[in-house]
Amino acid sequence: RGSVAEALGIVGLTRRFGALRAVDGVDLSVERGTMTGLIGPNGAGKSTLFNLLTGTLRPDAGTVTLMGQDVTRMRPEARFAAGLGRTFQIPRPFARMSVLDNVMTAPTAQLGERLWGPFLRPRAVAAQEARLRARAMEVLDFVTLAPLAQHPAGKLSGGQTKLLELARVLMGEPSVILLDEPAAGVNPALTELLIGKIEELNRGGTTFVIIEHDMDLVMRHCAPIVALAEGRVVFQGSAAEAQSNQVLIDAYLGG
Ligand code: ADP
Ligand code: MG
Repeated sequence: RGSVAEALGIVGLTRRFGALRAVDGVDLSVERGTMTGLIGPNGAGKSTLFNLLTGTLRPDAGTVTLMGQDVTRMRPEARFAAGLGRTFQIPRPFARMSVLDNVMTAPTAQLGERLWGPFLRPRAVAAQEARLRARAMEVLDFVTLAPLAQHPAGKLSGGQTKLLELARVLMGEPSVILLDEPAAGVNPALTELLIGKIEELNRGGTTFVIIEHDMDLVMRHCAPIVALAEGRVVFQGSAAEAQSNQVLIDAYLGG
């Protein structure tokens, strides 16, 4: 199972909390290179679905494949190393650490190399540190935070903190990135900047799944759009289809 065109293959995914089915038999195929918008009311199961995909929660049933590989039983660190990145609804950077150090302490694609670092010769350690720093500065430059590299992360605005989180995720060189409400608490100018960076990465081949409450933003930038309600997929289609879907109009698009 899992076609080559599939970035994420989700089959029968289910997670209960007591009697509540937070995610209830979700089947979803996320095509490579797409920017899927995941919408739905509060409590629909969007964040729980992300947690099942990243492995921070275990499913009661169902399977998840990432780029064709079954990751259902893999730990979160292993899924990250396999190319799955995610950002959080409320990012929590190390506030007193510099922006650069926050990015340098992110897990990298070369996880094993870092773990063995202390056992390497001092010159090799220094070379590795220099490579990591250069990569971190490259990523900070991409998200436009390079001028703030030495600032404490706690001094950043809400939008800059989201850019920092994206930078940390990019250190893992992910093929799929899950974004939980990237625009929440971000001013319009920084939201545009952030979305521009996301689209640039998307054009380069990175697949995105984005939970977002700003319907205008979702309609303009995401395809396809997937709606969850009470743990189930209740709609999947284009923005145009979403805008003519009576259930969605009543639930989110009306007024
Ligand atoms: P969304 O992100 O769409 O707002 P969530 O995935 O956060 O929804 O939550 C889905 C449902 O599962 C909600 O009813 C929520 O209260 C419940 N829920 C989420 N996480 C837990 C948990 N750890 N324990 C118990 N219930 C939870
Ligand atoms: Mg949520």
